[in-house]
Order: sequence, then C-alpha cells, then structure tokens
Amino acid sequence: MVDLNRRGLVLAAGGAMAAAGIGASSWAAPVAAPSGRKLGYAIVGLGSYGLGVIIPQFKHCQNSRLVALVSGDPAKAQRVAAEYGVPERGIYNYQNYDGIRDNPDIDIVYVCLPVSMHAEYTIRAAKAGKHVLCEKPMAPSSADCEAMIAACKQAGKKLMIGYRCHFEPYNLEAIRRARVGEIGKLRYFRSEHGFTANNPSAWRLKKAMSGGGSLMDIGIYALNAARYMTGEEPNAVYATERTDRSDPRFREVEDMIEFELEFPSGVLGSCMSMYSANQNHILLMGDKGRIELEPGTGYRGNRLWVGNGRENEITPPPGPGANQWAGQLDHMAQCVLQDRQPIVPGEEGLRDIRIIEAVYQSAREKRRIALRA
Ligand code: NAD
Repeated sequence: MVDLNRRGLVLAAGGAMAAAGIGASSWAAPVAAPSGRKLGYAIVGLGSYGLGVIIPQFKHCQNSRLVALVSGDPAKAQRVAAEYGVPERGIYNYQNYDGIRDNPDIDIVYVCLPVSMHAEYTIRAAKAGKHVLCEKPMAPSSADCEAMIAACKQAGKKLMIGYRCHFEPYNLEAIRRARVGEIGKLRYFRSEHGFTANNPSAWRLKKAMSGGGSLMDIGIYALNAARYMTGEEPNAVYATERTDRSDPRFREVEDMIEFELEFPSGVLGSCMSMYSANQNHILLMGDKGRIELEPGTGYRGNRLWVGNGRENEITPPPGPGANQWAGQLDHMAQCVLQDRQPIVPGEEGLRDIRIIEAVYQSAREKRRIALRA
C-alpha cells in the first residue's frame, strides 16, 4: 500500500474547486490583485519551455516581470537578456546561482530544468530566500518532492508547481460544468496523452534525468486531469506497460502505459500515456451526458463539447489571465503579495508523483496497488 498524505487531497480538491469558481475561495471573486506591483522572476533553464514558452509571457502579466536568467550558455544568456531587457546583474550561471540571494530584484525563481535537477534548484532557491515555481513533474521521486516542500517551508517561502491547465479556460469550464452536475452523476473518466519522442539522446529518454518515461512527462496530464476533473483522489491503481525495448528510444524509459484509477465515489478513471503517437484527449461521462475535450491540455486550440456527443461545442469565458501562462505566473506573484497558498502547491506535485510511483509499481508487479488516504 502506498502512503498518500490526506492534506494533499484537500488542497488538490480545493484547488480545482477554487479554479472552477466554486467553494470558499474562488477564481470568480479573487482577492483583488495588488494594482501595479510586479514581482521579479528569475527563469532557470533557457530551453524549449523556459525560453520558448515562458519568457515571452511576461508581457501579458499584471503582477510579474522578468528580472533574471540562469543559463549555462553565456552567449545565449546575453542574447536573451538583451532581447527581454534583463539587466547585466540579473544574468547567472549554474555555478554562481546561489548569488541570487543578494539580488533584491528576484522574488520568485521559476525552475524550467530537466526533472532530475528540480529538487536541487528548488532547494537552493529556497535557501537563497526566494519563492519557487517549479515545472512538472515535480521531481523523480516522492522523497525529492518531500525535501522540496520541507526546504521551502523551512525558509518560509512558497512553492508552486507549473500545472498550467489549472489556469486554462477550457479546463476550468469543464470542471465547473462537471461540479454543477450538468452531466449528472459522474461515472467514468478517460484521458489519453502522448507525443512522438524522436530523439533517443534527449534527457527525457534518460531515466536518471527524467525519472521515468511518457507517464512522468505527458501522462501526468491525464493523471492530474483525472484528479481535478473528478475532484476526487484515487484510492487504487492498476497499470499495464507496453514498451518495445529494442527501440533505441526506449532502452531506459517506458513508451506506453495504461492505468486505471479507482475513485471513492465509484468513478472509474482510465488513463493512457505514450511516447510513440500524438494524443491529447479528456472525456468525462455522467449518467446524464458527457464532457469532452480534444485537444484538452494543449498550449492553444483546445476544444470542449458538453452534451451527448459533439453536437454542442462550448466557448468558455476567459480564464484568470490573458492566457494560461500569464494566469499561472500572476497567480504565484499574487499568492506571494497576499500571503496565500498557491492553488497548485508542492503538495499537489507530490500527490501526482506518489500516484505515479504506485502506477509503476503496479505495472512492475502486475497487481492492483491500493493508495492510503
Ligand atoms: P529542454 O531540454 O528544452 O530545456 C532544458 C534546459 O535545461 C536547457 O536550457 C538546458 O541547457 C538546461 N540544462 C541545464 N543542465 C542540463 C543538463 N545537465 N542536461 C540537460 N539540460 C540541462 O527541456 P524543456 O522541454 O524546456 O523542459 C524543461 C522542464 O519544463 C521539464 O521539467 C519539463 O517537464 C517542463 N515542461 C513543461 C511543459 C508544460 O506545458 N508545463 C512543457 C514542456 C516542458
């Protein structure tokens, strides 16, 4: 039996409820954003996500600005700093990273590194007196996640995980409609997530750097959606893995893994993750209808249908930010400014990693694994 911390359940369900505009704290009536005040972010890792996706979002933010970069490539750091107006004093490398403690411009460190580096750079940031937003998956192991949470707690700093879909309008609208009972009593959840991993030398395919294969990287969207869409925590998992180990991409990590989640209400969750085809789909079935998203967790172009099939397509109201990333960045800044707990704190990342560990154990041992609440 895998031990799950009950507190994470409350936080996760509360987060989804808040995101759905339901419950005591809600997105619909957020605490007023402190006008004009922008907190400074340092982006650690100028890779495809940190540089290609996150950095361009600051122009859409109300409470967040880019003030520092951490990169192992000095020429790239100079080029990016010049393009985005980051001052010379805001340029760091992995050796002088701890010097961020002496830079009062930096309030929040955003860790956009390979998964095996998340814990180290989160803990060093907390020790340097900075709040941390860390990318998903939180870390290769639940022990690392616990160390990250403890370090931030000890330093009195906030820790949030980069679960952008909690700020994405189509997902928020689907959660809201499920919670108000539009499809009746929820019975079944299904999600498939995958992409084609092409580069055998990529860190994602090295177990020591990624912590695992498709499940850690992309299947985590299906798992996290199962939790925020149902508003429940699974109490057991059963998983099957299919990987062609002769394929050079999959010597170290899994390709396909399928897992069932048993929820306390009787809802059955069925999730599929793969590195050998593109998939991005979420389906909720209730006794009065269905909610479907495809793609469901994309950067853009998500679509939502509510009803009995795909005849009723929904355009959701705007989310909490100009887009999911601006909403995420500003949410963290606002939590710091107002001393609030982020809706996707470290405990949310830990909960997914504990379930992922149970999914891997189930696939390995070919048996159902109960999760302790
Ligand atoms: P990437 O390989 O494109 O970038 C990784 C960065 O880390 C690069 O700048 C690289 O130079 C740097 N780095 C430092 N030390 C390294 C080392 N020893 N080995 C390899 N790289 C090293 O990866 P990415 O796609 O930007 O992913 C970074 C993080 O962002 C991961 O945690 C990933 O899961 C996450 N991510 C999240 C989303 C999302 O939608 N939330 C999307 C993509 C990636």
